[in-house]
Amino acid sequence: MSIGEVYKNIKEKIPEDVTLVCVSKTRTIDEIKEVYASGARDFGENKVQELMEKYDNLKDDIRWHFIGHLQTNKVKYLVGKVYLIHSLDSIHLLKEIEKRYAAKGKIASLLIQINVGKEVAKTGIAVEELSSLIKACEGCNNIKVKGLMATIPIGNEESSRKYFTKMKSIFDNLKTFDYKNVSMEFLSLGMSKDYKVALETGANMIRLGEHIFGSRDYKE
Ligand SMILES: *Cc1c(COP(=O)(O)O)cnc(C)c1O
Repeated sequence: MSIGEVYKNIKEKIPEDVTLVCVSKTRTIDEIKEVYASGARDFGENKVQELMEKYDNLKDDIRWHFIGHLQTNKVKYLVGKVYLIHSLDSIHLLKEIEKRYAAKGKIASLLIQINVGKEVAKTGIAVEELSSLIKACEGCNNIKVKGLMATIPIGNEESSRKYFTKMKSIFDNLKTFDYKNVSMEFLSLGMSKDYKVALETGANMIRLGEHIFGSRDYKE
């Protein structure tokens, strides 16, 4: 099967209201074009430089998702170019996004990334820090939080289900509040190995790389 066919195949099997983000990091422009030709419009990148290069070489109607850790000094390059930043993980970063987007008169759409597995080497905020981050978001003018994102510890189906369920309950709980600038539309969970479990537990946005494009080669 070609990567375009694989994309169509997955798309047919998942519910229509689920956004499938094709994670195109390390992939060529031609590979992206092939999946695009099959109807894909949402693409995810985790490096600012790589996203910029691809942005300049691809069609305007692609919705770019920034899914990697975002350093404050790189925020300025993303203004007006990305559909959704999945990785808001500190007040420090929030302030930089607010500043850079305000300077250009734009609104940033963001997901709060939660380190739900409390992993030391992972980015994302601790659940305990969520309320102070939300409070800071309420004080902004140029951002909208649209939901939550997480990457979970490597494990088995049972542990994945546990973390995804925890995320879904945080998501549902936040939904009951009427915060300024914060709404819960997107729950971005699930990668190639665990997206089925993510969908079963209520994710409505999944991020698939290898499942669509085949295994990644980082050697170059
Ligand atoms: C690379 C990446 C993915 C996709 O991973 P696959 O295992 O290739 O599906 C999803 N989310 C994030 C944050 C990533 O960095």
